[in-house]
Amino acid sequence: MKILVLNCGSSSLKYQLIDMDNESVMAKGLCERIGIEGSKLTHKANGKELVVEEPMPKHTEAIALVMKALVDPEYGVIKDTSEISAVGHRVLHGGIKFTESIKVNKDVKATIRECFALGPLHNPANLMGIEACEETMPGVPNVAVFDTTFGMSMPEKAYLYAIPHEYYEKYSIRRYGFHGTSHMFVSGEAIKFAGLDPEKGRVIVCHLGNGASISASIGGKCVDTSMGLTPLEGLIMGTRSGDLDPAILQFICNKEGKDVNEMLNILNKKSGILGMSGGVSSDFRDVEKAAEQGNHLAEVALEAFVYRVAKYIGAYTAAMNGVDAIAFTAGVGENDKIRRKAICDYLGYLGVEIDDEANDCRGQLRMISTENSKVKVMILPTNEELAIARETLRLVQ
Ligand code: AMP
Repeated sequence: MKILVLNCGSSSLKYQLIDMDNESVMAKGLCERIGIEGSKLTHKANGKELVVEEPMPKHTEAIALVMKALVDPEYGVIKDTSEISAVGHRVLHGGIKFTESIKVNKDVKATIRECFALGPLHNPANLMGIEACEETMPGVPNVAVFDTTFGMSMPEKAYLYAIPHEYYEKYSIRRYGFHGTSHMFVSGEAIKFAGLDPEKGRVIVCHLGNGASISASIGGKCVDTSMGLTPLEGLIMGTRSGDLDPAILQFICNKEGKDVNEMLNILNKKSGILGMSGGVSSDFRDVEKAAEQGNHLAEVALEAFVYRVAKYIGAYTAAMNGVDAIAFTAGVGENDKIRRKAICDYLGYLGVEIDDEANDCRGQLRMISTENSKVKVMILPTNEELAIARETLRLVQ
């Protein structure tokens, strides 16, 4: 069975066609600048690349071009689009109504629309992608896989904020958590790779990329996660502040005559390691280079990033009364041996022991703890597209 996986942004569309018989990627690509001048499709299959520069006023035209590329005699991988059995869509926010992935119908679309306020940048684009597929591929089932459903298994003590309860009742304000498909995939694979009890295995997943989050799960079910109502909470990220005293907002607003929207923009786009390093970069490699050249603020930003991750690991170990495995994933988690080692250096009290030789690698599924380590520590490359395709298959079979 062939499944198309779509991740639609407001002006972009990423796709992969996955053959679920062997879970291999047949083709993948990206449509950029949808709705603006200079639209471009880059399609990759069989080691070849096709670039199409054609107007894409809406996602419908982008999907039509993707279909054309998939059946192209030279760059295509299927003879007819009828070979696509289903489409899996990444949808950012499912609110409190969706506790699982779901086959799309009228009601599901209405609820995705109701969640626009919770995911204002992503949900409208995700819905456009679904409607474009319905138009371009009538009769082919669409499945919505939400970034938030992994967090729906959290207990109330973890997801409720200590604010007046009426705000949860009126506006569904709670911790949702994001990167859910990644945490679901990695925690499930970590249980298998480490040979843990599928029901009781306690896993901490460190998804450390430009956006960063951490989760605690037992038997693959989330018990806590660091992102909150929005992806702003938790770890220090490329440009996001993560946790901070909310009174800082009021203080800076008053001092600098800013409003809360401007402050949120600063906290989302100008903070994190970019802000802490004094503006060096949001990219860990640049900040590392600056630190090596003696930039003190760059050094502190990296130390603070590592320190925050280590603190969360301590908290989540307490939440689960122990931890069996820790998995590192995403850009920094998979590639940055220095940050992995620095985080694990805080975890001696848990009996964590890292094998420096095993840790000296990038982007490979690998155990990096020693035989004697009391906690299994691994690099586990995330694969959100495959997670979405597996969910889609489960729901359409
Ligand atoms: P992601 O958002 O998952 O794509 O991760 C992007 C982040 O991963 C960027 O900050 C990169 O600097 C970081 N990254 C990628 N490769 C490396 C590497 N070899 N060493 C350190 N950081 C890396």
